[in-house]
Amino acid sequence: MQEVDLTIIGGGLVGASIAWGLARSGVKPLVLDGSDLDLRASRANFALVWVQGKGLHAPHYALWSAASANRWPGMAAALLQDSGVDVGLVQEGGFTFALSDEELTAMRADMEYIAIETAGRAPNFEILDGAETKSRVPHLGSEVVGSVYSVADGHVNALRLFHALHIAMDRKGVSYRPNHKVELVDPVADGFILKGEGFSILSRKIVLAAGLDNERLAPMVGLACPLKRSKGQVLVTEKCKPFLSCLSPTIRQTDEGGIMIGDSEETDTTSIAASSDISAVLASRAIRIFPALAGLNLVRSWTGFRVKTADGVPIYDQSERYPGAFLVACHSGVTLAANHSLVVAPQIAASRLDDDLSAFSAGRFHAQQTA
Ligand SMILES: Cc1cc2nc3c(=O)[nH]c(=O)nc-3n(C[C@H](O)[C@H](O)[C@H](O)COP(=O)(O)OP(=O)(O)OC[C@H]3O[C@@H](n4cnc5c(N)ncnc54)[C@H](O)[C@@H]3O)c2cc1C
Repeated sequence: MQEVDLTIIGGGLVGASIAWGLARSGVKPLVLDGSDLDLRASRANFALVWVQGKGLHAPHYALWSAASANRWPGMAAALLQDSGVDVGLVQEGGFTFALSDEELTAMRADMEYIAIETAGRAPNFEILDGAETKSRVPHLGSEVVGSVYSVADGHVNALRLFHALHIAMDRKGVSYRPNHKVELVDPVADGFILKGEGFSILSRKIVLAAGLDNERLAPMVGLACPLKRSKGQVLVTEKCKPFLSCLSPTIRQTDEGGIMIGDSEETDTTSIAASSDISAVLASRAIRIFPALAGLNLVRSWTGFRVKTADGVPIYDQSERYPGAFLVACHSGVTLAANHSLVVAPQIAASRLDDDLSAFSAGRFHAQQTA
């Protein structure tokens, strides 16, 4: 049986960010990944490095997101150096637009709660009325009644990010094996036996970064990863000259010219098919915000299942029963990529998650159940 020091199960954005970060810390892990037809959130996302509104009633998550956004410029520079790929990071702030007074009131309440819960340490934000929003955002529709603006938000080219991470980890000596789905993790005295079709590997340490499959794998090493179903749909228009200078969580112009419109949330389906009803709602709302979008053709639409934990907050955990086993599961794997590479990976390399991450342990779910 092959023996290795550390194996990451899953080569999506989370697994790749950690693999690259480990390699930068001098540890060269093995990455066992699934196959192209797996449900992969990393191929479906909206590419935001987004902080605004994150971490309501979870101030540690609000601050963790903000810290990752702050680390992003350093990570993008290091990735460029290691991969030669520019991931197109732009962090010039973002607007969440409201189409009714009720929406604006709810948005304001959430942002003010986050500010209180983080004792003012979350990034600054402004609540703008319709006139102020229009003065800052060209091409805005008359139905927009206001917005939340925060300077902390940005975006990247997410597919290029994924590509860059895989090039960088390869150049740093990470060994990547696609089509190696781990079916079983068997804890033994000197590590974990990872079994799949045609392979059996003994690994002294493991990191579960298998996206949706973490829910199945985690209990095999004494951990828990409760997820809830969350399907998102994204639309993309034909490419056009740059005209959307501002960023929002539902409408953005990519560095290649297409406008991405999203994203919806469905919690009651396992079908990956895109729905024309949802496309219609997304498109209509986008046109109310930016009427000029009505003149563009949609060229693509896709869906993806978010890796969303039961409370929406990431899980970072290390098994008490089998201390060589780590678990990382989160929505917002683009936003958090800098934390995963630059903070979590070195801690895994040192075989211990810092106490700062204890609030993210899945133990919180048992505590809620027994309360
Ligand atoms: C519609 C949508 C919009 C989003 N927008 C944003 C956004 O704007 N900003 C942001 O930060 N985040 C966003 N996200 C979330 C982000 O894409 C995810 O957090 C991130 O991609 C999760 O990466 P992952 O590696 O955990 O999971 P995945 O991408 O699902 O990767 C898991 C990998 O593990 C492999 N695998 C699974 N099981 C096994 C196994 N048993 N053995 C070996 N390998 C296995 C799979 O093949 C896959 O490659 C969005 C997600 C969606 C769906």
